Amino acid sequence: MEKDVSLKDKNSFHIGGIAKHYALVSSKEELIEAIAFAKESKLPVFIMGEGSNILVSDDGFKGVVIKLNFKQITDSSVGAGVPLRDLILETKTLNLGGLEWAVGIPGTVGGAIFGNAGAFKHSISEVIEEVEFFDGKEIKIFQNSECSFNYRESIFKNNPNLIILGAKFRFKGGFDDELNRDCLNKRSVPKGYSIGSIFKNPEGYFAGRLIEECGLKGKKIGEAIISKEHANWIINLGNASSKDVEALISLMKTEVKKKFNIDLVEEIRRL
Ligand SMILES: Cc1cc2nc3c(=O)[nH]c(=O)nc-3n(C[C@H](O)[C@H](O)[C@H](O)COP(=O)(O)OP(=O)(O)OC[C@H]3O[C@@H](n4cnc5c(N)ncnc54)[C@H](O)[C@@H]3O)c2cc1C
Repeated sequence: MEKDVSLKDKNSFHIGGIAKHYALVSSKEELIEAIAFAKESKLPVFIMGEGSNILVSDDGFKGVVIKLNFKQITDSSVGAGVPLRDLILETKTLNLGGLEWAVGIPGTVGGAIFGNAGAFKHSISEVIEEVEFFDGKEIKIFQNSECSFNYRESIFKNNPNLIILGAKFRFKGGFDDELNRDCLNKRSVPKGYSIGSIFKNPEGYFAGRLIEECGLKGKKIGEAIISKEHANWIINLGNASSKDVEALISLMKTEVKKKFNIDLVEEIRRL
């Protein structure tokens, strides 16, 4: 357990203050120990993956940030801390199909399950058989059907006290190299520090298109800017504060509500 750790370099936005405590845990026992410490100290816990979908406050976190260093990939389970890109490479090596489309999505297996990460009309829920998690008392398993997977939603997103430990995948067929290459070529990711799409697409619309039609592309507050390439993305120009980003998020919501009477719902999480 480390004390007073800067979170700035631990998330892809490069924004955020200091975590009072930070623990990189490599086993279930170490995880349980870190949680017991938080309970005894009456401190909140935040589970962090690669930090590619979180806005970390400038004020930091007066609690315990726990990162799961669960990196195993076996026939029966994949650890929550495995980077998605490593899992895709492994499926390529083993000639297993089902995750080719996910090429280029940053983050861990745990983070991807939490937010049911997806692209090109696919989502990780398609290849999940079961998820192992810790509910604060016991280690349990949810079958896919019990995970309440939906567009960027899962039971874990609605119950942040559940900690994803790993998952069993069900791959189908061989690895499709062409699909993998196609998806990689089609990905257009704005340059600069970011955390992906800020909002979910409202049914029948693209959030980025709505924001663009409000004339907000390129709108800058402090050191944060609404991407000129993709209006659903905010870029940290180098020294943005979480307050700059919050101000842009609030502006995007207000303007879209005013012009289209649509309530944008955030995809990102906060720490
Ligand atoms: C350049 C870029 C491109 C992206 N493209 C896509 C895309 O195409 N599709 C897409 O869906 N997303 C995309 N994203 C967003 C992001 O990559 C995904 O949401 C990713 O799955 C987040 O994983 P992470 O490990 O970084 O999670 P984090 O950002 O660290 O955490 C996200 C949330 O998950 C929770 N969490 C993480 N691990 C666990 C765990 N083990 N147990 C319980 N809760 C946990 C955290 O508490 C937090 O609330 C992109 C982001 C970037 C920066």
